[in-house]
Amino acid sequence: MSRLTDETSVSTVFQVDLSNRSSWVWKFFHLEIYKEDDEWCERDVICKIETLIEVKCEQTYQTESSIGNLIGYLLVEH
Ligand SMILES: [Zn+2]
Repeated sequence: MSRLTDETSVSTVFQVDLSNRSSWVWKFFHLEIYKEDDEWCERDVICKIETLIEVKCEQTYQTESSIGNLIGYLLVEH
């Protein structure tokens, strides 16, 4: 089955805090997960840095993105 990317096909999406993972980059991203056929699936990785007061960046990455990609993004964009 193909990966869900269409927002309308996703019923409920939850945000998961990953700051307990080993890499420091997870302090700056959270993971979105959704339930499909009683299984939790990972959807996207979202940047949670505030670019302005109470305005989140919300840059979205695929969960397949490497830690190196995420670090590169943080260094260049933030
Ligand atoms: Zn960002």
